[in-house]
Amino acid sequence: MSIPPPLALTYHGVADVPLRRDRHHLFVRPRDLRRQIAKLRSWGYELVTFGELARRAARGEAAGSAALTFDDGFVDNLETLVPLLYEEGAPATVFVVSGWLGDVHPVASWTRLMTDDEVRELARAGIEVGAHTHTHPDLTKLKRDGALAELVESKELLERATEQPIDVAAYPFGAANAATRLLACEAGFRAACRTLGQGRWKDPYDLPRQAMENRASDLGLWLKREGRYETLMRFYPARVVRKLSRRGKALLG
Ligand SMILES: [Zn+2]
Repeated sequence: MSIPPPLALTYHGVADVPLRRDRHHLFVRPRDLRRQIAKLRSWGYELVTFGELARRAARGEAAGSAALTFDDGFVDNLETLVPLLYEEGAPATVFVVSGWLGDVHPVASWTRLMTDDEVRELARAGIEVGAHTHTHPDLTKLKRDGALAELVESKELLERATEQPIDVAAYPFGAANAATRLLACEAGFRAACRTLGQGRWKDPYDLPRQAMENRASDLGLWLKREGRYETLMRFYPARVVRKLSRRGKALLG
């Protein structure tokens, strides 16, 4: 079996939410997540935290490693994800928006984000906590000082909440340009990530992740692994990919 390319996946909430309710594809069903973990392992991946993946990428040794990451800090990450990962023996990273602690999620209003006590509990349960800014803005649209403050504030607040150093970050909407990447470094992070397949493994402040949508197929996951999903989706409507996916199921096992 050849060594698969480095891979980081972007999830948000972990709950069984019907698609008609989850228009933004923010949730993964627990059983789908278990299946995806099994699929990654069957392809030869070792699951690591995002921080460890970034370390390996810096050494040029990230092939064969995959990271599960969860953005925003949903309360189900503590209630559902932690026991699931414990059973699967898999690590993960949760990127928390420090200004949203305990709030209702702005898009998924039926659920809420973790409080600072819950984030501490999450960290103590062995989940890596990363920063996802203070108020979740598109950092590329802010002035330098504003963008830097978003990064610094989330780092400091989360360090206080978890009583641990926070040294990795995820840009809201995956949005970052050359100036943003410099600010992430200046704010004291050692690595930061994008999403939707943007970014590159050679730059620790521009590490790519692939977005995982609700009911993501195994074929979709394979295309993400190969870095071909976003290109394909740009040229083909989702229903064609879904049809292909149904046909591909037998092939992918
Ligand atoms: Zn987010």
